[in-house]
Amino acid sequence: MNTMNTVPKEPEIKPPADEQSPLIDTSKMSAGQRAALELTEAARDAAGERGSFGQGLFMGRFDLTALRPFPEQSPEDRDQGDAFLQRLEDFLRERVDPDEIDRTGEIPQPVIDELGAMGAFGIKISPNYGGLGLSQTNYCRAAMLLGGYCGNLTALISAHQSIGVPQPLILFGTEEQKRKYLPRFAQGEISAFALTEPDVGSDPATMQTHAEPAPDGNSFVLNGEKLWCTNGTKAGVIVVMARTPPKLANGKSKNQITAFIVEMDSPGVEVVRRCRFMGLKALYNAVVRFTDVRVPRENILLAEGKGLRVALSTLNTGRLTLPAACAGLSKRCLEIVNRWAKERVQWGAPIGKHAAIADKIARMNANTFAMEAMTLYTASLVDKDKKADIRLEAAMCKLWGSETAWEIVNDTMQIRGGRGYETAQSLKERGEEPVQVERFLRDSRINTIFEGSSEIMRLFIAREALDPHLKVAARALNSQLPLGERLKAGFRAAVFYAGWYPRQWLPALTPASPGRAPSRVVRRHLRYAARTSRKLARRLFHAMAVYGPKLERQQVLLGRFVDIGTELFAITATCARAETLLARGENREQLLALVDYFCRSARLRIERRFAGLRHNTDKPGYQLAQSALAGKLDWIREGTVRGKPNRSQ
Ligand SMILES: Cc1cc2nc3c(=O)[nH]c(=O)nc-3n(C[C@H](O)[C@H](O)[C@H](O)COP(=O)(O)OP(=O)(O)OC[C@H]3O[C@@H](n4cnc5c(N)ncnc54)[C@H](O)[C@@H]3O)c2cc1C
Repeated sequence: MNTMNTVPKEPEIKPPADEQSPLIDTSKMSAGQRAALELTEAARDAAGERGSFGQGLFMGRFDLTALRPFPEQSPEDRDQGDAFLQRLEDFLRERVDPDEIDRTGEIPQPVIDELGAMGAFGIKISPNYGGLGLSQTNYCRAAMLLGGYCGNLTALISAHQSIGVPQPLILFGTEEQKRKYLPRFAQGEISAFALTEPDVGSDPATMQTHAEPAPDGNSFVLNGEKLWCTNGTKAGVIVVMARTPPKLANGKSKNQITAFIVEMDSPGVEVVRRCRFMGLKALYNAVVRFTDVRVPRENILLAEGKGLRVALSTLNTGRLTLPAACAGLSKRCLEIVNRWAKERVQWGAPIGKHAAIADKIARMNANTFAMEAMTLYTASLVDKDKKADIRLEAAMCKLWGSETAWEIVNDTMQIRGGRGYETAQSLKERGEEPVQVERFLRDSRINTIFEGSSEIMRLFIAREALDPHLKVAARALNSQLPLGERLKAGFRAAVFYAGWYPRQWLPALTPASPGRAPSRVVRRHLRYAARTSRKLARRLFHAMAVYGPKLERQQVLLGRFVDIGTELFAITATCARAETLLARGENREQLLALVDYFCRSARLRIERRFAGLRHNTDKPGYQLAQSALAGKLDWIREGTVRGKPNRSQ
């Protein structure tokens, strides 16, 4: 039942006349900061005008119609997914020992072969190219199944088809490229994605790997070294990001990054070493070196100079796999904890009866439900439209999902006590059930670091959230622009904000009423989300007014805005999903208790962040950190072994 009021259209945010002029004032930045920013700005998909739900949240435009009714899989889509998921589950249970994989650091080749034979390396590839042709939602369900079972297999499958060659090929490949490569993946060939270098972590502007056009004009010559390339030791084909000769644009030399499909058996490609980590012991992660590797021009993805765009767009959808896997892991943790908290008796009662443990269990259950709701919603957007603008939603799912799942695994370890810290093998040898919490903790720590670290996700979300404001106001404040252009921009901004700002105070004029939601609880929380979206928009605007272009540098402050927006997304997805489940006749009392608990907790987190906008220690904290980095606090470290080289060196 959709009882939502119709959403009136926001006045259009007109793009400025001069599309080429920069939105962000880079004049006061260091050369390195400017290069990084200009490169990522140029690669941004300027699709913001399509106005996703996530972006609306930061503008006080709470468009509940985007989530209501909560998207459900069609029966055909679900059946297709179920058939594959059943095969995958049977296979995992009968043929895969994740603890053995962890212990040996190897995935048995027959396991990889059988996964290939069942189509697990071509889940989203169209049947026209021999793939399973499953939807994004079914792919996420597969990631969920894997994520709760074996992190190493999740990484193998996800690095291949979430960020490896199939994903950018599906998005940007030419028909020839698709015909050449997709059938190979559908039959089980593995691929990888190579962006990172020793100096390129979150900042691609410092990329050293380069490709020069060969004299024949038909190919490029690739040189350089890539770090931490997951699947690098197993892949037959990889996507490599490389610098190509700069182009002149508006009289300025512009750095170019190009994405190449590279066959790993090409002369000059060398897997230098396999890297080993704290967790994911069977990750086939490599340093890959390229020495004068010839890459045909037709292996360029999208176009010369569009590599970063390929990488960013690939990651937009690709990083949705991670929260799905996190939801699977969290569900597995719930299973472990729900049993243990009933079985384990201490101080005369099962530990689940002690309030400190019960508090964690409630949070874990509620957060897992929310994580799944956010992920399923965002996956459904891709299923509706392969080119849907899910940048913000996917990034929010990744940020919130990976941080929350880490908290859930950590709490699971706490609840399991000493047994949580003991390895599954040791538990087994002592005659106890080999519950793998220690492995889960090691394997999941990386989730907040790769595919966009939490810090970078917050910056990314903040950039997208601020985009409508930047379009309206940034040119007025940009000291790099001529005065005339700034004055014109200032006038445009004044007209826009004269209409927009009052609407953020007057609920009656905004499109945010949740109407007659099927439950009072849901209605109350949706109203809160609508109201708070406007408060978020106002506060963001105030921060812009106070800091001007310098707001971009207030990372901790911006992080609070991002976290508030993300919690609002979580509340809305949770409520919308609950409505659909209620309509389906699910247990009303339990469901509403879960939703109510989640929303109340999220509201407390939101209110804490709002309070932090005004009262915080950001400035003295920053200064203190700089003092520490300048060596002025070295005395704190007295009493430790200092300056000793690591003996393993
Ligand atoms: C197990 C594993 C698998 C991987 N698989 C792949 C792969 O398949 N392909 C691939 O290309 N890469 C891969 N990576 C690389 C991974 O994506 C990077 O580790 C990640 O992008 C972060 O880069 P970095 O480690 O160099 O950290 P850095 O970029 O050096 O960052 C260090 C810290 O500083 C923070 N930071 C950086 N810049 C800023 C900023 N501007 N503002 C605030 N904070 C900032 C970061 O969030 C982080 O906390 C993998 C890494 C690992 C460990």
